[in-house]
Amino acid sequence: MIKPGAFLHQRDTTTKGAPLTHPVVHAATYHLPGDPDDSRHYGRPRNATWEALEAALSDLEAADAVVFPSGMAAISAALMVSLKAGARLLLPEDGYYMSRRLADDWLARFGVQVETRATARFTEGGFAGFDAVLVESPSNPGLDLVDLAALAREVRAAGGISITDNTTMTPLGQRPLDLGIDICVASDTKAPGGHSDTLMGHAAARDPQIAQSLRDWRNASGAIPGPQEAWQTLRGLETLELRLDRMSATALTLAERLQTHPSVSALRYPGLPTDPSHALAKAQMRSFGTLIGFNLSSADAAEQFINTCPLLRAATSFGGVHSSAERRGRWGDAVAPGFVRLSVGIEPADELWEAIKTALDAL
Ligand SMILES: *Cc1c(COP(=O)(O)O)cnc(C)c1O
Repeated sequence: MIKPGAFLHQRDTTTKGAPLTHPVVHAATYHLPGDPDDSRHYGRPRNATWEALEAALSDLEAADAVVFPSGMAAISAALMVSLKAGARLLLPEDGYYMSRRLADDWLARFGVQVETRATARFTEGGFAGFDAVLVESPSNPGLDLVDLAALAREVRAAGGISITDNTTMTPLGQRPLDLGIDICVASDTKAPGGHSDTLMGHAAARDPQIAQSLRDWRNASGAIPGPQEAWQTLRGLETLELRLDRMSATALTLAERLQTHPSVSALRYPGLPTDPSHALAKAQMRSFGTLIGFNLSSADAAEQFINTCPLLRAATSFGGVHSSAERRGRWGDAVAPGFVRLSVGIEPADELWEAIKTALDAL
């Protein structure tokens, strides 16, 4: 059972005068007289500030969470511990672009066979022969869903490892490990950090051997987070639930209103009863997220909308406190030229809608 607030209490609450916040420990090395034991000895394998962040993320995931300096470092770790030369890897063709680059440009050099499938048809064709299957649900930016419980079952039955990139949802919005997924990876750069000022990632697993491999890979690769960034992410986590509640409630309000605007077409938001993914979203997600996708008539219309709406920041990424938007076609995503991905922030819903409506009416 998840206890979102539990990690708020994991501090020294017994010593009078103890700081209420976690310290940022910058030590590269630790006092180590005599023979080494389980205590910290060097900064690459262990750090007290990451450990505080890992305790918080482990509570949220109900699993052993291992932190990495970015979402991509966490995804790299999950793939490195799941694959070997000659292994077969399945990825979404419409998921996070850099995961495909990692597979095609780097893993393929070591003999990994990489295949891709559209998220909307991901379970078609089964998973026989795949050593690892990485999926994103909802996909980013198309917001298609995959039945994660069915996928986890089928991948396991076929002898593979299932990995979910849960960045768009966070463990408060969706719990892939509860649905049987082996490794949950996420970019905590997005909503968990929440303030667009820190890169961070984590990979979580309930199988102790997988979790240990993730830690061993981090130590061997040296892909370790900075203590200051770990602390900033920990601070972000303290308000994650509040922010997500606000942002996802506003996202639903905006999706309902956007859907009826004459300039908007092909709107996707899993929380709308009319969305093709709604039934599955209700079954497997705890909230419907903070991202909305829709088409405007052209790339120019999308640019004008994004750049004239005073409450939207023209930026890539999502999950921050300030609403932002971007035309995903500019990165070559397989979307319409006027496709806009809107990341809903914490601004008051009515003010945000007024600003969005004014910019849309002017198109
Ligand atoms: C941002 C993102 C990543 C990569 O995270 P970084 O922290 O930028 O390395 C991976 N997957 C998804 C779905 C993302 O949105």
